[in-house]
Parts: sequence; C-alpha cells; structure tokens
Amino acid sequence: MSNNHLHAIVMGGSLGGLNAALYLREAGFDVTVLERSRVPLAGRGAGIVLNPYTVRYLTDRQTMAGVDMSIRSRYLRYVNKNGRITHEIEAPYRFASYNSIYAGLLALFGREKYFLNQRVTGFDRKGEIVRVHTAEGRQFTGDLLVCADGIGSEARCWLLGSTPAAYAGYIAWRGIVSAADVSPTTFELLHEAIIYHIGKDEHLLTYPIPVVDSSFGQGKRYVNWLWYRHVPQGEALDAILTDRHGRRRDLSVAPGAVPDRAVAALKAEATTVPDLLRALILRTEQPFIQAIFDYEIPQMSFGRICILGDAAFSARPHTAAGTAKAAEDARQLGRALNEHGNDVPEALKTWEKRQLQLGRSLVRRNREAGTKLQNGTWPIGAPLPFGLYEAGDSEMK
Ligand SMILES: Cc1cc2nc3c(=O)[nH]c(=O)nc-3n(C[C@H](O)[C@H](O)[C@H](O)COP(=O)(O)OP(=O)(O)OC[C@H]3O[C@@H](n4cnc5c(N)ncnc54)[C@H](O)[C@@H]3O)c2cc1C
Repeated sequence: MSNNHLHAIVMGGSLGGLNAALYLREAGFDVTVLERSRVPLAGRGAGIVLNPYTVRYLTDRQTMAGVDMSIRSRYLRYVNKNGRITHEIEAPYRFASYNSIYAGLLALFGREKYFLNQRVTGFDRKGEIVRVHTAEGRQFTGDLLVCADGIGSEARCWLLGSTPAAYAGYIAWRGIVSAADVSPTTFELLHEAIIYHIGKDEHLLTYPIPVVDSSFGQGKRYVNWLWYRHVPQGEALDAILTDRHGRRRDLSVAPGAVPDRAVAALKAEATTVPDLLRALILRTEQPFIQAIFDYEIPQMSFGRICILGDAAFSARPHTAAGTAKAAEDARQLGRALNEHGNDVPEALKTWEKRQLQLGRSLVRRNREAGTKLQNGTWPIGAPLPFGLYEAGDSEMK
C-alpha cells in the first residue's frame, strides 16, 4: 500500500534518524528531519564496529559509502599480562568512522528537508495530527513523529516521565593513537587485529579505525582503545564524570574536557595492563570517558509517535551493535508502514512488538558479556560477542 500524502517528522538527525528518514521516504512519506545541532554532525573521536545492518540501507542500494572507507581486522588476539598472545582466532570485522556513514546517509537523503539548528522542545496531538515545536519558534505538523534523539532522549521523558538508566558499575576510558606513532612491535600486534586483555575487574580492547576527523590527517590509520574499569557509584563516579570546568556530566566526558589530573592519574595507574597496551594509553593526548549504562524502554509506540535507536534502548557496548540496532529499528519501521499502508498506529504497534524483543535481547546479551568480561569469567580464547541478533552477525569479510 502507498503512504502518499502522509508526512513524517523525525526528531534527531544522527544515524537512527537518518535511516528512519530514508526508509520512511521510500515507504511514501514526505519526511522532515529536525536536528538540534547547528552544524552537520561529526564523529566523537572513535570508530564504529560495522555490522551489516548498520550500513544496510547503503549496501542494499549498491552505494558503498561508509563501507568503502572501512578498515578490516583478520584476527582476534587475546594477550596476557606479559603481552604474549595466548589465543588467536579469525575475526573478520570492519571498522568505519561515524563521519563517513553519516555523510553517506545524509548525501542520499539530501539537505532540503534536513534542518539543522532545530531543537524540538515538545509536541502535542490533535486528532490524527502531531504538532512539533522547536526552540527556534517553528512548528511542524505530521501524521507520524519518529523520536530518534539519542541516549539522553527528552522525548522519552515527555512520553514516559523520568526513566533513569541503570549505571553498570564501570566506565570506559577511551582514546585513539596514530598507528604511525607506535613501535614496530606494537604495530605488528595491533595491525589487522582486535586485541583483548582481560584482567581483574577490568578489560582492555583495541581495534584499528580509519581517519576519524579531518584534523587528524586524511588516510591515516588509528588504533582505538577502550579500558573498562570499575568505578563505584557515588563520590567516585561523580569525580570521574566531572569535567575540567567542574561540571558533572551525565554520561561521558568528551576528548579535551577531562581534567589534567584525571588524565595523569589514568596514565599512572596503567601499570596493570600489558606494556604494549600501556604504551597506547601513555601516548594518548586526549583520552575521554564514557560511563556504561543499561536502559530498556517499556514501550516504543504511542499512537502516531514512536521512539527508536539509543533513545529507546541503551545497551552496554560489548556487542558493538548500537548503530546497527538504530538502523534496524528504522528499517523495520519502513517495512511495517509499507505493510499497513495509511494505518500508522497499527503499523507502529506491529513494529513495536518485534523491536522491543530485539532491544531487550541486546541489553541482556550485553549485560551478560559485560559482567563476564569485568568479573574475569569470560572464557579467554572465546569468539567475540559482537553482533546485533546474535554473536557473529557483525562479521564482514
Ligand atoms: C555527533 C555524534 C557522533 C558519534 N560518534 C560516534 C562514534 O565515533 N563512535 C560510535 O560508536 N558511536 C558514535 N555515536 C553514537 C552512535 O552513532 C549512536 O549510538 C547510534 O548510532 C544510535 O544512533 P541514534 O540516532 O539513536 O542516537 P544518536 O546518534 O545519539 O543521535 C541522536 C541525535 O538527536 C539529536 N537530538 C537530541 N535531542 C534533540 C532535540 N531535542 N531536538 C532535535 N534533535 C535532538 C542529537 O543532536 C543527535 O544528533 C555518535 C553520535 C553522535 C550524535
């Protein structure tokens, strides 16, 4: 059935929002995207582990943007405290920068109805119409509102009240280092590989990523590292999430915003990890912090409004499937609307059943993997948990 003459508004123009916009347009909707950022979005300094679902819109249409910019790994290597490889298995994954995927999707959607500097401040419903208001004083009306406003979703609060995410008890220190800046021995180990080191109450992993920002130098390779460490809730967590201006951040402290003394402490404490991984931490100029949370939404469809991507579920990052889930929520939304024609509420109900299952399973799988990786019960030598529907579906040759 065709959805001609129906209008959809998408709140949030990142990967979830752009995928939704593209699939809805194909389902016959006239789509407007409202993004609060004043400038086109840019990566936060770390790469994305690709999953076929993350780039499915692009690959299904034979547009390889985002994928052709990716770097691949061949192996998963576990290293012990002495830096010796204890296990090596094949691991054909691909890594891309946020920027290249975002740019590929935005180029396909076009800029005509992608509005930057439009922060949605609320909405109201009148009969079959949803009216959306922005801080810039504009109003947009649609037959459908898709909320893709990310982990700190305001839409979620408007729809469900305050629903705080549960802190997982650990944070990730993260950083990137140019592959050219590491020793030949380190490069040999890190090259085309994902490295895991599992210690007591911590684990560290690295993977290669392509250029993440034009200021880093086009065409260069970087190594992305993540060091997961326990930090108890309360004073310790408050301290680590306080930026250099004294402001307590909710979820993360961005590159450049971490206080110098916290960076110095990180480097001083990096004696528990193998020397060659420690070298990466020491060389990183602007490490940054991401606290790890679990959040599950109880409901994703609300009549003619739905919520997807990180706004609906924020899973821990161990299955590396956050972007894939956002894109898959969007793809399934397009399918459901195609199947139900003009009946938006019915389409959203059908869609919700399936996507709630996916979100819950992803949160559960990440929680299980994260617990084992942090408490030392992860079977060293086992394949990675990377995957959206199941471990392994992220593999891309
Ligand atoms: C700028 C940016 C860079 C990122 N870089 C990386 C990366 O390098 N590596 C990685 O693994 N993941 C990265 N992510 C996260 C990753 O893209 C997401 O976790 C995932 O794709 C889910 O996407 P999402 O669209 O659901 O949420 P998000 O990607 O978080 O996008 C939410 C969007 O909604 C917008 N928004 C929020 N509130 C409003 C409002 N009131 N009105 C209008 N717009 C609003 C935000 O500005 C944002 O663009 C990045 C996200 C962003 C926004």
